Amino acid sequence: MKLFLRGHHLLCLKGFQGYGYDESFTKNMTEINNIRKQSQTTIALTNSPDDICKCCPNLMDNLCKNQLHDKMIVQMDDEVLKKLDMSKEHDSIELFEKIDLIFNTEESVSKICFNCLWHDKCLFYQKLQNNR
Ligand code: SF4
Ligand code: SF4
Repeated sequence: MKLFLRGHHLLCLKGFQGYGYDESFTKNMTEINNIRKQSQTTIALTNSPDDICKCCPNLMDNLCKNQLHDKMIVQMDDEVLKKLDMSKEHDSIELFEKIDLIFNTEESVSKICFNCLWHDKCLFYQKLQNNR
């Protein structure tokens, strides 16, 4: 199966533990988090609405209307995408292993996670904080 994912959502999936904006969002994110762990899954990268955004109540007129606003969300994506090859489809398991290697300190995610509203629910971010 092929997933379309925004750059910064690669990190968010690693920190996901069942919280979200509403029931539909959480159900969809749970499914995607399961699919991305399966061998055979491939991932195409984007800095626009993806398979997670499609079930998000913040998506309006194909733009993210959450408190951070679309422009900042795209900047978060681009901070991740500049370290990856966007021109190809990635093997999901390999891609998420790579994410762990690239984003392995609090400093490495400072321009991505600094303004996020989910710090206290995100296992990925908390792990980096604990490794300080
Ligand atoms: S802190 Fe926020 S932006 Fe960063 S990985 Fe976690 S959920 Fe995503
Ligand atoms: S808050 Fe914005 S970037 Fe995050 S899932 Fe919703 S629409 Fe997508």
